[in-house]
Amino acid sequence: MQAVVVREHGGFDKLLVEQLPTPEPGPAEVRIKIAAVGLNHLDTWVRRGVPGHQFPLPLILGSDGAGTVDAVGEGVTGAAAGDEVIVLPGLSCGTCDSCQSGHDQLCADYGVLGETRDGCCAESVVVPEANVAPKPPSLDFQSAASFSLTFQTAWSMLRRARLQAGETVLVQGAGSGVGTAAVQIARFLGAEVIATAGTDAKCQAALDLGANHAICYEQQDFVAGVREIRGRSGVDVVFEHVGASTFDGSIRCLARGGRLVTCGATTGGDVQLSLHRLFFKNLSVIGNTMGTRDDALEVIRLAGSGSLRPVVDRVLPMAEVHLAHELLESRSVFGKIVLTP
Ligand SMILES: [Zn+2]
Repeated sequence: MQAVVVREHGGFDKLLVEQLPTPEPGPAEVRIKIAAVGLNHLDTWVRRGVPGHQFPLPLILGSDGAGTVDAVGEGVTGAAAGDEVIVLPGLSCGTCDSCQSGHDQLCADYGVLGETRDGCCAESVVVPEANVAPKPPSLDFQSAASFSLTFQTAWSMLRRARLQAGETVLVQGAGSGVGTAAVQIARFLGAEVIATAGTDAKCQAALDLGANHAICYEQQDFVAGVREIRGRSGVDVVFEHVGASTFDGSIRCLARGGRLVTCGATTGGDVQLSLHRLFFKNLSVIGNTMGTRDDALEVIRLAGSGSLRPVVDRVLPMAEVHLAHELLESRSVFGKIVLTP
């Protein structure tokens, strides 16, 4: 089968499109013939490498995928050949206290497809039976492959930040995968959304997705922009994933009792935080990675019913994975890039 493999970290040339043996499913595993795979920023981190972190190379990239089950291993009861499925990217042991109590993202053995085990950027992938969910008939394969990781993450983040109807949320980087998810989820929950994005076109796209306000951070300091909209009262929640370049401003935008929730640090992970501001204003800072299995199933249900909409910027053949990574890193896309074998 054709697959996109990383054998050593580095630039775009480290994305190798190779012919590999088609994997066979073991006990409690299923094999999926991949119809589409969604890219995430995580793919670029696996390719580039993260200082101090060991990835199990060689590794087939790709956390998000959708396709059709074409083989099942011994003991599989929840899936059968011919089932159209969405791949759930979160891997956990399934037996520890965290997993048993529905907090599988806290499992000590937690991993992600395409990061800790071979992923979906191939013609076939083998995953644990627990890692597939039925594809809603209303979604085509390309949309179905594009949203599981980002939407479950955004759902988990806003759930944990206790975003309420009538509150205001600032969504940083609204044009990214998690950003497009957060704008829609926040509106679905009944919140008012202020989005930030880097271009007028992305701001307009965020407004089209349901944001109430959009601030182009290349043209205006977003803290000043939030003040224009909210006066001195600030926002109740900030949805962060940008990191060092926005963190201080994000904290300053928070109202008393405000919550900042973050899942990423694209511009760097070392920030300064004024403890005086933190405790005088009764602020909370929440870290979040991925979501629970229930979060994943909930966003799939909401996407199937049309309440949430996967946003696909473009679809490329898998052989053009180099171009796809370039587009992702240059932030010249709104929403997701999807590859097809
Ligand atoms: Zn576990």
